[in-house]
Amino acid sequence: MQSQNPVFIPGPTNIPETVRKACDMPTLDHRSPAFARLFRPAVAGVRRVLKMTEGEVIILPSTGTGGWEAAITNTLSPGDTVLAARFGMFSHRWIDLCQRHGLRVQIIETPWGQGAPLDKIEAALKADTSGTIKAVLATHNETATGVRSDIAGLRRAMDAAGHTAMLFVDGVSSIGSMPFEMAAWGVDIAVAGSQKGFMLPAGLAILGVSPKALAAMDTATLPRTFFDFRDMLKSYAAGGFPYTPPVGLIAGLARAIEMLEDEGLDAVYARHHRLAEGVRRAVAAWGMKPCAVTPDLYSDTVTAVLVPEGCNGTDLVTLAAQKYGVAFGVGLGEVAGRVFRIGHLGMLTDVMVLSGLATAEMCMADLGWPITLGSGVAAAQEYYRGSAVAMAMAAE
Ligand SMILES: *Cc1c(COP(=O)(O)O)cnc(C)c1O
Repeated sequence: MQSQNPVFIPGPTNIPETVRKACDMPTLDHRSPAFARLFRPAVAGVRRVLKMTEGEVIILPSTGTGGWEAAITNTLSPGDTVLAARFGMFSHRWIDLCQRHGLRVQIIETPWGQGAPLDKIEAALKADTSGTIKAVLATHNETATGVRSDIAGLRRAMDAAGHTAMLFVDGVSSIGSMPFEMAAWGVDIAVAGSQKGFMLPAGLAILGVSPKALAAMDTATLPRTFFDFRDMLKSYAAGGFPYTPPVGLIAGLARAIEMLEDEGLDAVYARHHRLAEGVRRAVAAWGMKPCAVTPDLYSDTVTAVLVPEGCNGTDLVTLAAQKYGVAFGVGLGEVAGRVFRIGHLGMLTDVMVLSGLATAEMCMADLGWPITLGSGVAAAQEYYRGSAVAMAMAAE
């Protein structure tokens, strides 16, 4: 029965029954019009979720990491320079991927718990008078620390510097759960994965690509075959794929987007904010703090909770899994042991979140941490009670 518990990891997320059913389908000839009928709504839906007005959607059989690789290899050449701030495990891994591809990465080291440093990025771009920097890489929501960076502000900083670099954004743990504005923010490539805000199993990299990034394909010489956007777009135009697509996942994607839009994207974002705020109230009631250093950085999809001195966040995660059959996220990299993470994205309600908070408290008490059972749950309950009326009225 413990398999019935929701997960509280920041991806993969809980899969709604209707999405699971949509993925479950008989074999279908992917070169037939039946596939095109299934594929086109998924592509159109992604375009709406990303808030694109131009450019192309690319859906690859892969994961978020493959989406990063595809973004890089389709637009850049060996020896090109990219600019990136490192402030968590995911920004770190994207930098590592670029370096392994022979790109020069100008790294702005930033303390974990902070976000993309807009002033430093602007200064670096201003200093690059010869236009060496080809792209700025930004992790919208740093899943390791629960930090959301200001991408609209980043675009303004790039414009203020008068620099023409492309802007690539990792939105793997934000897209579909927090506001994302590809067109308004001037994002050249947005990367998402199927298993977070889209509530699907892992298996798809989902990208939005601007006309500027598409034009960069013509001169980019990094090797690519499986991830070549040109092959994808040629086949898409005929309603197909250059190779065998994961048909079930694509059917599920169309259904997941239908769910998000039935609820309303703004309502989905508001729900995530509300769930996150309840978690933050609980964290405060435990006498703990999020890893994100200031409230403007708080992520609405994941909270990395700094654990008390002498406690180890990984112990809580291990115990929760072994004793209660509930999954939380461990601390990664620099914050390993110092935090545990509560994922609060995807198919979740306040009632589900309360069960996660209650489980975290049981583990803390079991481990002898200095908290009072029920304190965090009560704080979240008060907040959810107070904001639930508006939710019910919105549904009428
Ligand atoms: C999960 C995640 C990734 C990695 O995605 P995979 O699908 O596991 O390859 C990349 N970036 C962020 C911000 C993530 O949360």
